[in-house]
Amino acid sequence: MRKNIVAGNWKMNNDLAQTEALISDLKAHTKTSNAEVMIAPSFTNLWHAFEATRQDDIEVVAQNMHFADNGAYTGEVNASMLKGIGIKTVILGHSERRAYYNETDESLAKKVDAALANDMRTIFCFGEELADRKAGSEEAIVGSQIKNALFHLEASAFKNIILAYEPVWAIGTGETASPEQAQDMHKFIRQTLNDTYGSQVADDMSILYGGSVKPGNAKEIFSKPDVDGGLIGGAALKADDFYAIVNAF
Ligand code: PGA
Repeated sequence: MRKNIVAGNWKMNNDLAQTEALISDLKAHTKTSNAEVMIAPSFTNLWHAFEATRQDDIEVVAQNMHFADNGAYTGEVNASMLKGIGIKTVILGHSERRAYYNETDESLAKKVDAALANDMRTIFCFGEELADRKAGSEEAIVGSQIKNALFHLEASAFKNIILAYEPVWAIGTGETASPEQAQDMHKFIRQTLNDTYGSQVADDMSILYGGSVKPGNAKEIFSKPDVDGGLIGGAALKADDFYAIVNAF
């Protein structure tokens, strides 16, 4: 059956000293839920974070990577570089990457392929903007984001994919999708997988919700049957808050 996962997306926060401090705070907490715990520090701190959590039930994951094997891509990092320091999972397609760095479903499909070719798991992010929801087109948008980036894959590839539904209007805004809105969309996503790949792929897929998840709302969101965890931004930067969310299952 599918796993529950809580992943902390640190975004462009925490230098080395702050990374060390937050990891040592995280290690002081006890996990009482069955959720897999992940943290995503910046590239410069991945190796240190990986080393510092070797003995712990915390997986260190990357926030992004390039799709090419090697080459003239100044400033970029590829899958084999990540794998070489022990990173086995990468977040791809976060709405900030889509908005500020022109990532598209098409370029993300190549990144997903590169991750899979390197036996890495992908946390694939997508979600509609406020205007889409106001226009009632959120399912059409989300459906096309998933299909365009992922539906060239074979069914067997989906065991290495985790989905993260993050309505753009709820990220960092304090505005959370209601538990019912999250459940409705997650159900639609699972149905979309089922329609093309069948019930095995659909039932086994972990679908995370992201967007202003906090200790105070996590339990209700995670109680929904098609919500299998969260991708946490702001509340992942404080160990107490993060573990309150991890233990909200
Ligand atoms: P937030 O960010 O929890 O701060 O809204 C979520 C995300 O961007 O992954």
